[in-house]
Amino acid sequence: MDTGAGADGADGMDGLARQQEVLPGLLATLPDSYGKEPMPPHMLDYPLLLSTLYERAVRIYPHQEIVSVNPDGSVHRTDYGETDLRIRKLVSALAGLGIEPGDPVGTLAFNTHRHHEVYWATANTGRICHTVNIRLFPEQIRYIVDHARDRVVFVERSQLPTVEPLAADLPGVANWVLMDCEPSETSLPGAIGYEDLIADAAPAGEWPQLDERSPHMYCYTSGTTGNPKGVAYTQRSTYLHTLTAIAYRPVGPPDNVMPVVPMFHAAAWGLPFTGTAAGAKLTYPGEDLSAVALVDLIEGEQVTFSAGVPTVWLAIQHYLDANPDRDTSSIHSFLCGGSAVPRAMIDWFWRNRGIRVVHAWGMTETNPLATMANLRPEMESWDWERQLDFLETQGLPAPGLRVKIVDDEGEELPHDGEAFGELLIQGPWIAAEYLRDPRSAETMVDGWLRTGDVCKITPEGYVRITDRSKDVIKSGGEWISSIDVENVIMGHPKVTEAAVVGLAHPKWQERPVALVVVQAGVQVTGEDMASYLSGKVARWWLPDEYVFVDEVPKTSTGKFDKKVIRDAYSDLLQR
Ligand code: ADP
Repeated sequence: MDTGAGADGADGMDGLARQQEVLPGLLATLPDSYGKEPMPPHMLDYPLLLSTLYERAVRIYPHQEIVSVNPDGSVHRTDYGETDLRIRKLVSALAGLGIEPGDPVGTLAFNTHRHHEVYWATANTGRICHTVNIRLFPEQIRYIVDHARDRVVFVERSQLPTVEPLAADLPGVANWVLMDCEPSETSLPGAIGYEDLIADAAPAGEWPQLDERSPHMYCYTSGTTGNPKGVAYTQRSTYLHTLTAIAYRPVGPPDNVMPVVPMFHAAAWGLPFTGTAAGAKLTYPGEDLSAVALVDLIEGEQVTFSAGVPTVWLAIQHYLDANPDRDTSSIHSFLCGGSAVPRAMIDWFWRNRGIRVVHAWGMTETNPLATMANLRPEMESWDWERQLDFLETQGLPAPGLRVKIVDDEGEELPHDGEAFGELLIQGPWIAAEYLRDPRSAETMVDGWLRTGDVCKITPEGYVRITDRSKDVIKSGGEWISSIDVENVIMGHPKVTEAAVVGLAHPKWQERPVALVVVQAGVQVTGEDMASYLSGKVARWWLPDEYVFVDEVPKTSTGKFDKKVIRDAYSDLLQR
């Protein structure tokens, strides 16, 4: 194993000293000789490189399909072998643009085969794919393209209205590569068409040997307060994340993996890497993420496994409810997370469609999958409702990760399913710092990542998130879980979405208020909601008000934007 000793970093510290700074807790348990005495080799000192996983998949499954939906709705079909040639040409073309290993490459794109090509052309060669969240505000997009130091940015036609006004303020970007349109269609300087770029490029040969600790991807958090923070995924972190994800939620060559979660957010939860390494068919849905378009793909392409945020699957649930003849029998399970998954949704997909919703939790900072709600063996024989008690949690930490909960003083709390505190996590695919950002010191402490999520951990090891720390509701000194109340409201058959926030109250300090979206054409009152909830949550957890809205405000990554909700209704309980 590479101990890191002697590898000089840019800051002049050797690798071991840097690790000692970052992971004192872990290193304290190692013998004094660690990293100092020469070790016999024992095993090949073989770096954990993504190109190893990639090369195997292409060699063994050259005819495995990659399907991608074009902006006009037509379907592009290719396979691993053809794509490999294009990826190798793209590598040479990037070198021709002066983009060398270690240089970042920006993307503003949906989930498509070309985005997949950029993912792998960078991962295989030590270049860095910087996926820009297209739903950020223009100023945030400008900030992160500048902050990541992108010199070339790949962009789709749909994003031109966003980036054209920014280009003058991004002098570092020498070239804009147009993924699905022609240079004549834009005012962007240095614009090149993607197909022109790779047409005459000579395919690159052997993948280079890289330092496994080198970055291959930059992902930025959405930054609801302040500028987004960048996280650099490394060869090593994504390699380990990929193998663990395959083992923990098995996918293989017979699978057809459809990443609905965007490739511009947390690497589409790693599915382009996981799916490829597993040799699975890949189905990229492109721009249209409507329920009907996704069900068309599931049915037409025989998708077996997918992943996306709850709002996507809730829309599919309601669509399937109204269109019971649609066939989803190919799909055995999908990952769902990014925000809490309603119990009622897990129940619906299992009972009505035989589909297992696998609740997962993660963050941009965790590469991103960290926990998954798999059942323990003894639970397999339990009745469904009892199983649901665990399937609705955020799940068990993936092998390789350690979690703990701490109180406000940082004291560790028991895993008894009662005590709740901030979730801390550590492991080989957990960020040790933000990219060139002094805010690292607040979040990465003593070798642990402070998640900002408040949770309990059951004696069986299941993590149950009750709130983000900034969304916790304090009423009369007692604490209310907004996620638990939302979950119950979303179990109401006529409700499609519900967000619960704490609003200032003259007597109780804060009281919960629910924003509720009901199905089109349906009438529901606050009294209906209150009587539905009564008996299902503690009386004093019942929201003081139900505000019926057409849509709950959401962040760029599809989470309820509770800050916006609190601001919009700040006076509601002050009367
Ligand atoms: P961003 O912060 O940019 O929106 P992230 O994916 O990094 O995107 O967000 C991570 C946060 O999302 C977590 O800290 C947690 O609050 C929330 N989250 C993710 N998955 C779940 C889940 N399954 N249940 C509840 N909250 C979740």
